[in-house]
Amino acid sequence: MKAILVVMDGLGDRPIKEFGNKTPLEAATRPNMNKLAERGITGIMETIGPGITPGSDVAHLAIFGLDPKEHYHGRGPIEACGAGIKLRHGDIALRGNAGTVDEKMIVKDRRAGRIDSTAELCKEIDGMKIDGIEIILKPGAWYRAALVLRGEGLSDKVTGNDGKDVNIPILQVKPTDNSREAKKTADILNKLTKITYEKWKSHPYNQKRAKEGKLPGNVLLFRAAGQYVPVPTLEERYHIKSACISGGGLYNGIGTFLGMDIIHVPGATGSYTSDFNAKTKKAMEIIKDYDFVFVHMKPTDSAGEDGNPKLKKEMIEKMDTAIGGLLKFDGLVILTADHTTPCEKKDHSYEPVPVVISGPGVRTDDVKEYGERSCVGGGLCKIKGLDLMPIITNHMGFSKKYGA
Ligand code: ZN
Repeated sequence: MKAILVVMDGLGDRPIKEFGNKTPLEAATRPNMNKLAERGITGIMETIGPGITPGSDVAHLAIFGLDPKEHYHGRGPIEACGAGIKLRHGDIALRGNAGTVDEKMIVKDRRAGRIDSTAELCKEIDGMKIDGIEIILKPGAWYRAALVLRGEGLSDKVTGNDGKDVNIPILQVKPTDNSREAKKTADILNKLTKITYEKWKSHPYNQKRAKEGKLPGNVLLFRAAGQYVPVPTLEERYHIKSACISGGGLYNGIGTFLGMDIIHVPGATGSYTSDFNAKTKKAMEIIKDYDFVFVHMKPTDSAGEDGNPKLKKEMIEKMDTAIGGLLKFDGLVILTADHTTPCEKKDHSYEPVPVVISGPGVRTDDVKEYGERSCVGGGLCKIKGLDLMPIITNHMGFSKKYGA
């Protein structure tokens, strides 16, 4: 049997006064999600564990069956995968932004006035060598870039140069242990800070921006160093061929990191105007070629972080319409989230998220609504993120009996 897993990022929430103490999910008109709850087995899921607030990266690793304690080496490598860099074991990867500094290297804008692309700037640096180490720099969305250091004797035990604030000097990169490798890596990164400033400050792309009255992207800010250590793919662990449909960035990175094929869908942007219908339509098209398709939808999390319950409810209703396109699928449909993002907190929180597994052969329960509280009464009870893939792949027929 085949499966389509939909993860609505940051879907979970807390009671909202203006919704009569319902959550945005409970308040939303969601006939299709409820139909799946009625047809399926429901429960709640702590993606990491009780009382632990997960980042999206570790939550997704757990949902896909990898224990982050063992397999998470920072956000950098996953972002680099998302930027399309083919990482090698031992590469050091960092998240980057094109930022704006003044001539005293004081940070004036961490995103260079939300510069629309770093592609031209990255080209100036990509492929160069510093002290024999290859520097790979590829553009991400907007002001973002992914930085990779490749060569012998490197370490991820270094800080970044990004103080995550403005009107402060750009930070000196420091080793965080006493190893020669960390010192060498910090030295190279400090040289790179200067090189990006020298090469970018008078770059034609920035001259053009200056004429338009826009801030220049004149320095590379970077953080979250991590060493790339390959993980077993979904195919290696569960013998399933899988694909990822997302708005890009981190989520395509997670897909690539786990060995999924990345499927690009026009209009799937990860923003509030993302075309959710196009995503589920594409999932229905490509499932003939795959065992498992992962569909990621981001704006529920963004609306939570913006503290906007009305918008979150609206996004859930749009996602529900798109999920309607999966009701005719003859395999498993799984709906869940990676964590809770309460509008009142404007950040992630620890509360469990609802999960439903719907499809042939599933032992249904009495739950008829897909919600944070209704799913507490479901047949899956409370599971952990790491439990999800074993349950899904067992239903798919890919798991062997334990014992005789
Ligand atoms: Zn998330």
